[in-house]
Parts: sequence; C-alpha cells; structure tokens
Amino acid sequence: MTAHVAEPSRLWTDVDFEAEGKQVSWVHLPHSVTRSAYGTIAIPLAVIRNGEGPTILLMAGNHGDEYEGQVALCRLVRELDPADIRGRVIIMPAVNLPAAMAGARVSPIDDLNLNRCFPGNPRGRPTEQIAYFIETVLLPKANAWLDLHSGGGSLDYLPLASIHMSPDVDLNRRATAALRSFSAPFSLVWQFFPETDMATYSGQRRGIIYISSELGGMGALNPDGIRIAYEGTVRSLDHFGVLASTRFAVPPAPATRFITLRGRADYVYAPDAGLFEPLCRLGDVVKAGQPCGRVHFVDDPARPPAVVNFKNDGLLICKRHPARVLRGDCVAHLAGDFAVS
Ligand code: CA
Repeated sequence: MTAHVAEPSRLWTDVDFEAEGKQVSWVHLPHSVTRSAYGTIAIPLAVIRNGEGPTILLMAGNHGDEYEGQVALCRLVRELDPADIRGRVIIMPAVNLPAAMAGARVSPIDDLNLNRCFPGNPRGRPTEQIAYFIETVLLPKANAWLDLHSGGGSLDYLPLASIHMSPDVDLNRRATAALRSFSAPFSLVWQFFPETDMATYSGQRRGIIYISSELGGMGALNPDGIRIAYEGTVRSLDHFGVLASTRFAVPPAPATRFITLRGRADYVYAPDAGLFEPLCRLGDVVKAGQPCGRVHFVDDPARPPAVVNFKNDGLLICKRHPARVLRGDCVAHLAGDFAVS
C-alpha cells in the first residue's frame, strides 16, 4: 500500500511559522506573465508567536470588495507584539490580494471566488492555489479561524458575526461560545448553505472553529463595521486564551442577539430584469406574503411593476444594494430568532 502524500502548495514564504517573535512579510504565489516572467503575487502574511499555546488564523479579503475586516486586521498586524500573546496568531488581511486590490469579489486574474474554491488545487488557477495553501499549510496549524466578510458591492448587511452548523455537536457547542465572545450586534447561525466548497466546510472537516462576519457592504467602508471587526477579534483572541497582556484592554462584550438562517425560503430573488425598488429596510420585521420590492421596466412604461413577496416571516438582515437587477439576483434575505441551548 502506498501512503498518499498530498502535493505541496506552490506558494512560498520566508516566514518561519515555528519561530518566536513577530514576522510581517508575504506569501509568494508564482504568476508568470508577459510583464514579469518569473513574477509572483506577494500576499501579505504576519505571524506572531510567543511560546506554546493555541494558533488562531485571522483572515480578511477572501472577497476583495469586503473592506472592514481588511482594515481591522491591518491594524492588528501593526499593534500585536509577541508579548501581547501566548501561542501564535497568523494574520492574512488581504488573502485574495488580486481581488482586494481590484475591489472585487472575485479575482480579476481568473474570475474565481476564493470562498467557492476549497479545498483548492495545487496546480489550479491562482485563486485555487490560494485556497490550497490555506487548506494544506495554514489549517493544519490552526485551532480557530476568523474569516471576516462584509456584504461587498452588491449587498448590505446588518452587522453580524456567524457560524455554520455542522454535524459535530461538540464543535457546534464550542463555535457557539466563540460566536458569543465575538459579540457583534447580531450572532447568526447558518443552518442552510449547500455550497460545500466554502471555507467553513474546510474548517468543519478539520474540527476547527470557524467564525465569519458580515459588517456592512455596498462597496463602502463602514466605521462601525471596522470597530466591530477589531473589537470582536480582540475579544476572540481573549476567548481562545491567546491574549496575554493587559495592554489590549478587551472591550466589554455588548449584547448580541442570536438569529438563524433557516432555509431557501429566507431568500428573495428578482423575478425579472429591471430596476429593483425595495419596499422594506434593513432591520424590518416582515411577514410571509408581504411585498419585499418591485421591479420597474423603464423601457416599457405601460407594463406594471413586478412585485415579489417574502416567503417567510423574519428579520430583514440583508438587502441588495445596486438597483439594476437581472432575474435570479438575490435582493434580500431574512433570519429568524435562534434559541441558544
Ligand atoms: Ca463575503
């Protein structure tokens, strides 16, 4: 019997993950193009280590147009010193760098969405190779993983942190406690997400706590979202036993409200192409059958607008930002209350 040895990631770095101290450098993704035959894409990476303890992986820029986590994690790269921690903190504030520099959800190089590329491919397109590096180099070292998202250019969200329910009851219990410690205004428990090539499922396969977030959107940088990302991350480091110094005053946890994404019926999709007029605001409590919005046809003024209704009762936590829609665009989604056991 031949032992299966995973093909190594082609990404390389001068960072020594086992070294004590603070290293702020780059991971190099080989990218041979006309303007740079032996070139690489240099993706920022910081590793801070002080003795034995848990390893926490902090990541933002999985989607390049989601900015609050990117700014909050750059601040932590500048601020965190080895004396502040016990264990290890790995920070990648712009993990899909080409997407982050383009301000785009997907990479302009390969049109791929990093969060639909796990577990990645060592010989794949650049975004698939980034996923493979995370999967095979970073995750085996990590005890917990914070992957900070926002709504991006096409969505706007109530500020929330989130976990995804897994079949592992003990992991769910530990993830729920970690989510409570992050203490965003809303704590969302996803019970429905059928796309199994997402980061969250790589975390589940390895039994790693995976916390995500949605901290604004509309292609903007929301100052409240930056603060929630920063303070929630510091509280998480404290929760996981990594924060060791009093220099980082852990901001007291504000109240958080647990909510849940229940299934397909929580989503509303544009019924036709046109101009979408929302008839509700973020934070509204709505009823099944209530109009969510209507699509106008300015090229056919005699045609009445097409109304689309909610299919579920719930809290409106996410809505589409740009007015122009195509049939099938998600224009809103709801969440219901969640009782934490
Ligand atoms: Ca996202």
